[in-house]
Amino acid sequence: MKIHEYQAKEILAKYGVPVPRGEVANTPEEAAAVARKLFAEGASGVVVKAQIHAGGRGKGGGVKVAKNRDEAEQHVQKILGMQLITHQTGPQGQKVRRLLIEETAQIDRELYLGIVLDRSTGKLTFMASQAGGMEIEEVAAKTPEAIYKESIDPAIGLGAYQARKLAFALGLKPTQVNQAVAFFQSLYKATLETDASLVEINPFITTKDDKLFALDAKINFDDNALFRHADIKALRDVDEEDPLEVEASKYSLNYIKLDGTIACMVNGAGLAMATMDIIQYAGGSPANFLDVGGGATQEQIEHAFEILLSDKNVKAIFINIFGGILRVDRLATGVVAAAKNLNVQVPIVLRLEGTNVEEGRKILKESGLNFQVGATMKEAAELVVAAAKEAK
Ligand code: GDP
Ligand code: MN
Repeated sequence: MKIHEYQAKEILAKYGVPVPRGEVANTPEEAAAVARKLFAEGASGVVVKAQIHAGGRGKGGGVKVAKNRDEAEQHVQKILGMQLITHQTGPQGQKVRRLLIEETAQIDRELYLGIVLDRSTGKLTFMASQAGGMEIEEVAAKTPEAIYKESIDPAIGLGAYQARKLAFALGLKPTQVNQAVAFFQSLYKATLETDASLVEINPFITTKDDKLFALDAKINFDDNALFRHADIKALRDVDEEDPLEVEASKYSLNYIKLDGTIACMVNGAGLAMATMDIIQYAGGSPANFLDVGGGATQEQIEHAFEILLSDKNVKAIFINIFGGILRVDRLATGVVAAAKNLNVQVPIVLRLEGTNVEEGRKILKESGLNFQVGATMKEAAELVVAAAKEAK
């Protein structure tokens, strides 16, 4: 799960990570009130920041500095409600519904910090780079040596010596090193205790008066751990998610929308991945990833159909099921019922194997509906690709 920058900063502040003073605003009036308050408290400027679940906001015009209240109000007028396009939003952009208004910082250097779960070592890795404020993916691709890494032993935590190594690698001044050690350890503690899968501070800044701040903050959480963080779960903003994905999550369906024309309904994440691959291999393109899970009910299958069909790009449906816990006859009953209830018009191709497969095939055959069944996964993929091409 992703959250907004302002929410990430609230969490980090609780762990003692220094962040600039600021507040979120949902309306121009609220934004003006926050700016007024910050100036009254002595801020020399404020920064107006679009809150969307995507990076690259600065380049897209979603982060603007103001020297006085008038300027701040002009930026608010422009940014609030705009369709902000960044390299992470796609060409359609994302509507800005919230702003973070913060006191400006006197930036000396812009650096990078990140903590990410490294699946190859099974440990959290702390990353730091002097190439902050820019796209870290580009730095990683072109100059990977510019990113310093410390792998963290979960039994010990981030050692002070490791934090000092990172501080030296960043070229911090001796007067900043102790602050940096405390900063990095707080960041690590926040990552660990919130079950975050990624924490990124870009830029991590030093100021002209030698202070350190998280000027930007991004946190992604492990969805499988959200059950033990009710407070974090409450931070979810469905406005930032794909509406079909939100709908799917209501029925515990693992659905991710893609750009292709062939809808997939599959049980098991591994089989779903293989299905997307074989569609590509057969010359088609998947419209989604969908794992209905091991024990899908007829109701879930109907909802899955509704979601697949709400995607206007879908030209054919590929149902690829290996009946284990989910018995094939039960699935076939669900598919037939859904196809009748929803009056499905797009061609459906199935590949079925596993428990009660013969009963399942019989149910499909006797339904009177027009399903194609592939004998193998490859044949079914070829059939569905051909069906999608014909439908165009
Ligand atoms: P992102 O583009 O979505 O990653 O948004 P950031 O929060 O990282 O902001 C982008 C850039 O805006 C930063 O790298 C800074 O250069 C600039 N910026 C953000 N806040 C301030 C501020 O308080 N003062 C100044 N001078 N620049 C800022
Ligand atoms: Mn940033």
